[in-house]
Amino acid sequence: MSEIETINCLIIGSGPAGYTAAIYAARADMKPVLYQGMQPGGQLTTTNEVENFPGYPDGISGPEMMVQLEAQAKRFEADIRFGFITKVDFSGPVHKCWTEDGKEIHAKTIIISTGASAKYLGLPSEQKYLEMGGGVSACAVCDGFFYRGQETVIVGAGDSACEEAHYLSKLCTKVTMLVRKEEFRASKIMADRVKNTPNIEILFNTDTVEVLGDGNGVTGALVKNSVSGEEKTIPCTGFFVAIGHKPNTDIFKGFIDLDETGYIKYAEPGTSLTNVPGVFVAGDAADKRYRQAITAAGTGCMAALDAERYLAAQGH
Ligand code: NDP
Repeated sequence: MSEIETINCLIIGSGPAGYTAAIYAARADMKPVLYQGMQPGGQLTTTNEVENFPGYPDGISGPEMMVQLEAQAKRFEADIRFGFITKVDFSGPVHKCWTEDGKEIHAKTIIISTGASAKYLGLPSEQKYLEMGGGVSACAVCDGFFYRGQETVIVGAGDSACEEAHYLSKLCTKVTMLVRKEEFRASKIMADRVKNTPNIEILFNTDTVEVLGDGNGVTGALVKNSVSGEEKTIPCTGFFVAIGHKPNTDIFKGFIDLDETGYIKYAEPGTSLTNVPGVFVAGDAADKRYRQAITAAGTGCMAALDAERYLAAQGH
């Protein structure tokens, strides 16, 4: 059996929340160890250009920003590891975690920053333009600006889709909303706001058949009415998907209190505390409302400060 490693602070996940927690924890001499997870850098690595993170007046690409955050954490000797945590046991006084290759880690404090993953339709054409940064996005607040003065399509019928459609309507000449059923799932007030916005056209009972493009970027969407069977092409340069997110919290089930959709519940609002003493949460794993790099970074800072105070109170 491999040796158990005992550490002060384990950070699980490497988006802006995890790296910010690592910077703060390392500067407080907590000697944090950060496991990067399945997608080092997190959701921002699928974002082309980040223009709304303060301090980058000319913008920065998502992957480049993550490289810089990692370098900043390493500068203070945070131990950044490629790999992921597959199992935890928070039932006893010691917080136990296991990596994918079976290594056992005991951590006095844990910061969960595993994030959430945007759901996509899964069409090959959608994935192609997503991967090349060519016009597919799951975040209107992040990417809507690039389509100002242009036509966009957004898929979804929940509160997020309505909020994002409305956001896009202020930037774009026209927004076409594709709703797969004959009604919205969103709250009435959000749905009404969309219905009352003149440059938003809502197509009910409508599925996406294909995201169309010219090889460099999106040029339209081929859609089909599921009742009449009629197909048509909607011209657009931006194809937005707002069909929900899945928080990456499965391994914590049974130990950490989750809400009905899997988001981690704060034990005390306004802090990073979870129901387990010594275990803290930062970023999108607990945030279905804001989901921004800057808010994730802010809560990463909070989690590191809370972990530091917890360690101090334990006499470390
Ligand atoms: P939801 O899970 O509420 O909605 C997802 C939507 O996507 C549904 O309308 C669903 O359609 C649609 N959908 C799912 N899969 C597909 C698919 N393959 N093709 C087409 N459509 C699809 O997610 P949200 O992100 O909208 O909201 C998550 C939570 O956050 C909710 O509780 C919401 O209320 C909350 N929220 C609140 C806000 C606010 O109050 N300001 C803002 C944003 C979110 P269908 O209805 O047919 O199942």
